[in-house]
Amino acid sequence: MQPINKFLAHGNATKAQGHDNENLRKQILNNPKIHEFISQYQDRLTPEIINNSLSSLYEYYLSQEHDDPVTSGYRPELILSGQAITLKYVPKESKLEKDREQSIKKNVRLINLPFALHDVRLSQVEMAPGRAPAIADIQTFLVNYSKNHHPQGLYLSGDFGVGKTYLLAGLANTVAAMNRQVIFLHLPTFIANLSSHFNDNSLADEVQRIAQCDLLIIDDIGAETLSQWSRDEVLAVILQARMDNVLPTFFSSNMAMEELKEHFKETRNAIDPVKAARLMERVHFLAKEIVVSGPNRRN
Ligand code: ADP
Ligand code: MG
Repeated sequence: MQPINKFLAHGNATKAQGHDNENLRKQILNNPKIHEFISQYQDRLTPEIINNSLSSLYEYYLSQEHDDPVTSGYRPELILSGQAITLKYVPKESKLEKDREQSIKKNVRLINLPFALHDVRLSQVEMAPGRAPAIADIQTFLVNYSKNHHPQGLYLSGDFGVGKTYLLAGLANTVAAMNRQVIFLHLPTFIANLSSHFNDNSLADEVQRIAQCDLLIIDDIGAETLSQWSRDEVLAVILQARMDNVLPTFFSSNMAMEELKEHFKETRNAIDPVKAARLMERVHFLAKEIVVSGPNRRN
C-alpha cells in the first residue's frame, strides 16, 4: 500500500464533500489493478493528475465490477497520457478470435455444399496413412502459396467417404485466413442447377466470379451429368480462364484422371473425344493427381 498513501491523503474531496465521496475514492484507488497502475507510474503521477483522472479511474473500476454490454468484447486499459490518466478500449482475445473466424467465413463461398465445411480446420484433420500424401502436398501448396499466388493445384481422387471434401475444406479455410477469396463448388449440383440461371444474365456473371476467384475448389468432378453446352460453355470456359491466369484450382473426384477423360467424352447426345481431350489438358495443367485412400468415414 506504499505508493497509494500520498494520493489518498491529498484528496480534495475530504472537507468539501462528504464521507461517501471519500470512501468511494479510497475504494477506487485501492482497487488492486488501479493500485498496481499507480505503483507502476508513481514517479510520474501527482495528486493533481489523480484528481483530474478520477472519472476515468471510476469507469475503469466499474468495468471490473460489471460487464457493460456496450463495450463487450473490449477491455479497458489505463493509459497515462500527459497530465491525465485515460482509458483505451482494446479488443479481448476472444473478440479477436471471433473476428478472425468471421473473416475466414466471409472469404469462403460455398456453392451447393454444407455450411458445416466452414468449420473444418486442417489442424483437426487426423493423420492417417491413406491421406498422408495429400496432406503433405496440401502443406507444400500452402507454403508456396504464401510466397506466390500461382502454384499448381491438386486433384484428389479416391473412393467415396475417404475425406477428400473434408481435406479440401481445411485447405479452403486456411487460404481464407490468408485473406484470399475462395470458391468451393459442388460441381454436380451446380451443373444440375444451371437452368435456374437461364432467364437472366446472372449465369455469365457467376461463371466470371468462379473463373476469377483467388482459389477455386471443384468438388466431385466426374459425378455431374454434362450436356455439350454445360461442358463446353460452362466448365471448359471456367477451366480455360483459370489456366490462362494461372489461378490455383483444386478438384476432388471419385474417378482417377484417366477415367475422367472417358466421362468427358460422352455428353447426353454426342460422343466427342476431341473436346474431352482438350478439357483434360486443362485439368492436367491445373492440378497434380494424388490418391486419397482409407476407410469410408461416412459410416
Ligand atoms: P469424400 O469427399 O472423400 O467422399 P468426405 O470428406 O465427405 O469424403 O468425408 C466423409 C465423412 O467423414 C464426412 O462426414 C466428414 O465430415 C467425415 N470426415 C472426413 N475426414 C474426417 C476427419 N479427419 N475427421 C473427422 N471426420 C472426418
Ligand atoms: Mg466429397
